[in-house]
Amino acid sequence: MKCLNCGNQITNNLKIKEIFLFKEIIPDYICNLCRSQLAPLSGRNNCPRCFKANANGICSDCRMWEEKYQVINCHQALFEYNQFIHSYFKLYKRYGDVLMAKLFFQDIKSWSQRNHFDVVTYIPASKSHLQARGFDPVYELYADIFDLKQLLTKVDADKPQAQKNRLERLSTPQTFCALPELNQIQKNQSILILDDIYTTGRTLMHAHDIFFRANFKKIYTFSLSR
Ligand SMILES: [Zn+2]
Ligand SMILES: [Zn+2]
Repeated sequence: MKCLNCGNQITNNLKIKEIFLFKEIIPDYICNLCRSQLAPLSGRNNCPRCFKANANGICSDCRMWEEKYQVINCHQALFEYNQFIHSYFKLYKRYGDVLMAKLFFQDIKSWSQRNHFDVVTYIPASKSHLQARGFDPVYELYADIFDLKQLLTKVDADKPQAQKNRLERLSTPQTFCALPELNQIQKNQSILILDDIYTTGRTLMHAHDIFFRANFKKIYTFSLSR
């Protein structure tokens, strides 16, 4: 198999437990050289709320969310947003290379096997983005791994998140609406909301708010990068 990012051959070294315990073999689409440019977030003194690395306790952003909106963040992410992730999303989102959706398949799949939720939903693209790009990047990133339910729609914003500065992002008003399907879900079920990148936390906070107001008690969020 070839690395989706650089085209190098991937040598799949089967782990002993995969051979002897008949463990499901999860295919890998990223080579070791590309993988070495990633900065995994796990075990780095993360903020227990938003998973920010080297936070030494609850970070200032999460304290602010809690004070201002009484929202307790429950977020996890896999990789720090660095140059490699930046280039990845440029290829995937800006140039619309939909095949790149699978680059992190193994990492996301492994995480999904360690963390269980009753219902999994995602941050949808707005209609105009979907039409321009031809696919929904968050949906494609996770669709092969989770049984995704679309429960939100995104209203078109004045300008894309990527063009906003930090202050503008933090003050963006609610951009999601609940779909009728949300009413069919039992409120005591645990909900996982997926996004691709966590920057200020505002996007997931808005999505979180929809479920919070609908009386869901167990709301969790996840992003590939943070
Ligand atoms: Zn590679
Ligand atoms: Zn935090």
